[in-house]
Amino acid sequence: MKAAVFDYRSAADLADAVQRLAEGDGRAKLMSGSQSFGPMLNLRLARPQTVIDISRLPALAGVREAGGSIVIGAGVTHAAIEDGVHAPLREHPLRAVAAGIAYRAIRNRGTVGGSLAHADPAADWMVTLTALGAALQLRSPRGERELALAAFMHAAYTTDLADDEVIVSVRVPAARGGRWGYYKFCRKPGEFAEASAAVWQAAPGAPLTIVLGALDGAPQALPALAEAIARDGAAAATRERIAAAVAAALPERQPLDCQLHAACVARALAQAGWTAPVAVAGAEAAE
Ligand SMILES: Cc1cc2nc3c(=O)[nH]c(=O)nc-3n(C[C@H](O)[C@H](O)[C@H](O)COP(=O)(O)OP(=O)(O)OC[C@H]3O[C@@H](n4cnc5c(N)ncnc54)[C@H](O)[C@@H]3O)c2cc1C
Repeated sequence: MKAAVFDYRSAADLADAVQRLAEGDGRAKLMSGSQSFGPMLNLRLARPQTVIDISRLPALAGVREAGGSIVIGAGVTHAAIEDGVHAPLREHPLRAVAAGIAYRAIRNRGTVGGSLAHADPAADWMVTLTALGAALQLRSPRGERELALAAFMHAAYTTDLADDEVIVSVRVPAARGGRWGYYKFCRKPGEFAEASAAVWQAAPGAPLTIVLGALDGAPQALPALAEAIARDGAAAATRERIAAAVAAALPERQPLDCQLHAACVARALAQAGWTAPVAVAGAEAAE
């Protein structure tokens, strides 16, 4: 199928994008890498009157350090992060996350902002950036606001973004000295996750965060398990305790599905150095 007819506008700058989006009065949509939006147009799941291309805006393409944080422009591509193009992200754990998204052609064009705005529950950035405690900078004709990513996604493909709002950037911790792990289960490298989990602790003694992804909606944290592991270490990160925490968090899910998520948690914890590398029953068979 082909896209329905729409007006195409290339935004001159960020202010122009914000203005054109507002003028669209709910019938205009932004296009960044077009890796999710393009298929939506072609399947006519999206039928905007106007498409505003923001893929070439320098204002969205930079990465900078600000204090202990790194501010990533919404238009930064997965490939630029994977390749270490931006110095502040060269040693950052997000580099490996980017390398696992889809395949290279998609990563060349797909952007961090586009992925978050699209809000596919199985996407990599939503779960990993949520675990890192990221915050979004959003701009509309009413001004700028900052929103914690944990409060951004309401449900699958549904976010807090207003029709006239642009994601400008996402702020993440610089992550030096932190403990990080991310594991996604998919049948072939680069596929969307069937289950995923990310683990993050900024510094010794700081709160540990464990977040599940690839659910029906937004990523889901496991605060009680995280607290126990932060307090008691590997003794609290047993296969049984992880499985019980996941099963309690996902009561509507099938046992196999819970097992895959538990395997992702165990492997993310092992990556982060909380446990020795672990084999979780069932995960090998599923792989
Ligand atoms: C075959 C295939 C496999 C894939 N596999 C994976 C995978 O394994 N993991 C993964 O995470 N992703 C995967 N993706 C998705 C990919 O990462 C996309 O690049 C991403 O989801 C969308 O980014 P984009 O820049 O292409 O956004 P677009 O497709 O241009 O836009 C997506 C949505 O976001 C909106 N939008 C874009 N930019 C902004 C902004 N700055 N502010 C507000 N709204 C905005 C658009 O209006 C649109 O609604 C896959 C895609 C394909 C086609």
